[in-house]
Amino acid sequence: MRVLITGGSGFLGSHLCDRFIAEGHTVIAMDNLITGNTRNIAHLAGNPNFSFVRHDITNYIYISGPIDAVLHFASPASPIDYLKLPIQTLKVGSLGTHNALGVALAKGARFLLASTSEIYGDPLEHPQKETYSGNVDPIGPRGVYDEAKRFAEALTMAYHNVHNVDTRIVRIFNTYGPRMRLADGRVVPNFIAQALRGEPLTVYGDGSQTRSFQYVSDLVEGLYRLLMSDFTQPVNIGNPVEMSILEFAQAVNEITGNQAGIVIKDERIKGDPQTRQPDITRARTILGWEPQVHLKEGLIKTIEYFRDVV
Ligand code: UDP
Repeated sequence: MRVLITGGSGFLGSHLCDRFIAEGHTVIAMDNLITGNTRNIAHLAGNPNFSFVRHDITNYIYISGPIDAVLHFASPASPIDYLKLPIQTLKVGSLGTHNALGVALAKGARFLLASTSEIYGDPLEHPQKETYSGNVDPIGPRGVYDEAKRFAEALTMAYHNVHNVDTRIVRIFNTYGPRMRLADGRVVPNFIAQALRGEPLTVYGDGSQTRSFQYVSDLVEGLYRLLMSDFTQPVNIGNPVEMSILEFAQAVNEITGNQAGIVIKDERIKGDPQTRQPDITRARTILGWEPQVHLKEGLIKTIEYFRDVV
């Protein structure tokens, strides 16, 4: 296959580039580098099956030659980023998705949308099944990301229904691993960086809010299987092992041997979901997929990466 990956130099996009190259496909990575970084794909430079195009996909995307699949991963994805870049976030989710779908339609390519657990907002159903329609405040600070992704899902289904584009929608739950940006503000890089510097970990609120963390290789496997399947409804991909942010902080301090403990900070963004846990029955049943990497194992690999970066 010849595959276009938007957001190809970001955290997830770059791991997808690696997987598709390893499977023998040809990859074109596209990124405007506002949150992505070419460091993440530097090891692929010179590979005849890989190319990089710097482009803002909210503008018309021109690609010469055939494309078999479009993987649409371009977007700021950390709350701190989309608070700083609200209009870019809305534009890439709307105009960017429209252009990426336009490429898929013109080339007869399969299209995979990177959607998110954020479309469930601060969920009133727990754990979250794909049938749950969510609890999102459109004008709250997180609305720019949540609504952009909700619109992107709607547009993807419309292209499927009206133009017969062969589409997939993955709802990605909290994912961590090497190549996350050190200063992206998310809990995993924040805690690891603080622990490696011997500082207390900044727990926002009382730390009772929960998340379910999946290691990046599990996500990539789920995405690959979804793309190769014929399933066009949304699929949650995440690790159902749920924990409070306080427990997560304790785990990071334990693994790193950080003695500085935690510090409570009043920095929760309005609408910060109180709970989040994927129901992965659909992924299990349809894709035969199951997360394989335990938190400790994934954290050790991620900490190794951050040792060189901090
Ligand atoms: N959080 C925290 N300390 C930090 C960064 C984040 O306690 O230094 C909390 C944040 O309030 C949220 C959770 O960790 O409840 C996960 O935040 P993140 O920004 O990683 O992503 P989210 O899952 O909210 O999109």
